[in-house]
Amino acid sequence: MALNVYYDKDADLSLIQGKQVAILGYGSQGHAHALNLHDSGVSVTVGLREGSGSWKKAEAAGLTVKAPGDAVDGADVIMMLVPDEHQQALYESVVDRIKDGAALAFAHGFNIHFKKIVPPQGVNVFMVAPKGPGHLVRSEFERGRGVPSLLAVHQNPTGDTKEVGLAYASALGAGRAAILETTFKDETETDLFGEQSVLCGGLSALILAGYETLVDAGYPPEMAYFECLHELKLIVDLIYEGGIVGMRERVSDTAEYGDYTRGPRVVNDRTRKEMKKILAEIQSGKFAREWMRENKKGREHFNSYRKESERHPVEETGEHLRKMMSWMKK
Ligand code: NAD
Ligand code: MG
Repeated sequence: MALNVYYDKDADLSLIQGKQVAILGYGSQGHAHALNLHDSGVSVTVGLREGSGSWKKAEAAGLTVKAPGDAVDGADVIMMLVPDEHQQALYESVVDRIKDGAALAFAHGFNIHFKKIVPPQGVNVFMVAPKGPGHLVRSEFERGRGVPSLLAVHQNPTGDTKEVGLAYASALGAGRAAILETTFKDETETDLFGEQSVLCGGLSALILAGYETLVDAGYPPEMAYFECLHELKLIVDLIYEGGIVGMRERVSDTAEYGDYTRGPRVVNDRTRKEMKKILAEIQSGKFAREWMRENKKGREHFNSYRKESERHPVEETGEHLRKMMSWMKK
């Protein structure tokens, strides 16, 4: 392993149990962090805007809820779990109430790494980023297990930020699986690159190109949908469980031979060159500046991309076919 890995045995849970923790936001990550820490004996206050729909949910789960500034007042650790593009404004509205020596924590490095948030010198800054969605962070914890998480320290004026971060990760359940040490820079840049080139961007472009190739060649859209989109889940599940080799062991030899000989023609040197450019735009901050500008200007492009993608024929085909699949959630 290239990274340092820590487990519960390396963490001193008492470092967080004695502290006042404010969790700002109660969405995917927020509810999991608040409930897991609460169950680990940590004193948790959830910070939400007046009138937030999550307010009642958090209270019903037995948590104390306050306005963000009131939750931050007196807190030793403040975990920022609102959407990344809203963190700067929320931070600015509460920064005056963060006490010296407290820790400001994140589950993604974007705002710190790109300097959208620049905390005072006297405030510690760490990250605990679960490598899974919030519902899994919660459900694994309830089963006595955990989701592997990344730990990073950005600023350490009190000298114990890594130990406090480890204790936080342990209270979240991560120490039952693995706590991997990284940096804000590496987490932020690899996260953006992964979602842009492979997970979201690369994958949707690949699906659409395959679907359109079959439909343009005269095949029925339903067939194109099954082969280029629907069956993806079966393949991804195999890769998730056994790596690429595990997947290749489970598909037919015909599929495996086609994979070796045709795959590299689809994702080729041009694609790799473009991936390098995409990575360079992330590293230089060009992407972050572009996305922040887009938000400030009311998301004009973002909204039109979204509208356009909703109008693609693959969506209508999918809506129709998914109704035939009784196991799909509405
Ligand atoms: P989310 O969209 O699920 O939840 C956001 C919460 O913040 C909601 O409760 C919402 O009501 C509240 N909120 C929104 N704007 C607010 C504001 N201005 N003031 C106060 N509260 C506000 O967000 P999420 O997916 O849990 O993401 C939170 C952080 O966790 C992000 O930094 C994200 O990158 C990181 N993260 C998410 C995942 C994931 O799987 N979702 C995984 C790892 C890390
Ligand atoms: Mg990610």
